[in-house]
Amino acid sequence: MTVTLEEIRAAQMRIAGKVARTALQPSDALSQRCGMPVYMKMEHRQPTGAFKLRGASNAVAMLGKDQRQRGVVAASTGNHGRALAYAAGLEGIDATICMSQLVPHNKRDAIAQLGAQICIVGDSQDDAQAKAEDLVAQHGMTMVPPFDDAGVIAGQGTIGLELIEDLPQLDTLLVQLSGGGLASGVAAAVKSLRPQARVIGVSMARGAAMQASLTAGKPVQLREEETLADSLGGGIGLANRHTFAMCRDLLDGVILLTEQEIAAGIAHAYDEEREIVEGAGAVGIAALLADKVKPRGPVALILSGRNIDMELHRRVICGEHTQ
Ligand SMILES: *Cc1c(COP(=O)(O)O)cnc(C)c1O
Repeated sequence: MTVTLEEIRAAQMRIAGKVARTALQPSDALSQRCGMPVYMKMEHRQPTGAFKLRGASNAVAMLGKDQRQRGVVAASTGNHGRALAYAAGLEGIDATICMSQLVPHNKRDAIAQLGAQICIVGDSQDDAQAKAEDLVAQHGMTMVPPFDDAGVIAGQGTIGLELIEDLPQLDTLLVQLSGGGLASGVAAAVKSLRPQARVIGVSMARGAAMQASLTAGKPVQLREEETLADSLGGGIGLANRHTFAMCRDLLDGVILLTEQEIAAGIAHAYDEEREIVEGAGAVGIAALLADKVKPRGPVALILSGRNIDMELHRRVICGEHTQ
């Protein structure tokens, strides 16, 4: 059930040329503050604005001929849905993204513009998920899950290969932690290539389902709460197959952040690094600013996405955002 270094290397070959090989950029401001070199992996620069394109592209590239003809489906309206629509579109494969009527029109339009079929149903994410499962049962479409899928995890893991290539002396990696596809894949790659490196997950304190599950020793469900790091929301699935065990076995710890700390991360990214990132993208920076990790060697963090509402971004960097 775990994803191996070989699978991650195979993913790297499959997605080469389809996703950006992003830069690892030093941060003078954070390095000075931490007294150790700090580097940022610029995943927010991927087409579609988030690292999710790696996992989606790998999953799409692994489809057989039959599966390609029948198309792919997902119920995510966020970065995974966008990535899957884009990756399938590049290969001429039909993608259907199911969403509830509550999803705003601008989000529907953005996904439709990538060439995906939009399927609007019900008034909750659960309704959309049920519809996606119907499409799998009725039309033989292939579901591409956002995190708990070996192909998706291997795709996200390619970030780890690039990190070690660019920073062989990596000591501490801060990685976003939600469903755990990113953390599982990246930790699998990093721990295989550099076992002495620490890999620490970072989540928002509001509804950190993986952290609660790791503490409980099994997947548990939490009530979902509103957070600035909206891309980190949602559960890990009570029938989790891969990411719970991988995070349990590979992560050296988990840091939880308040909304205020996440806001400080977004503001730092803008003011000091001149980068626009969403809340989830800023949590690595936020963990350092909040002194929640003790750097003891070169640190890397991931700017995982930039798909933030720009009006919200303006309020955050002006300090007008309150919880
Ligand atoms: C999905 C996502 C994450 C979290 O990834 P998981 O694999 O669910 O843990 C972090 N940041 C951004 C921008 C995302 O879209």
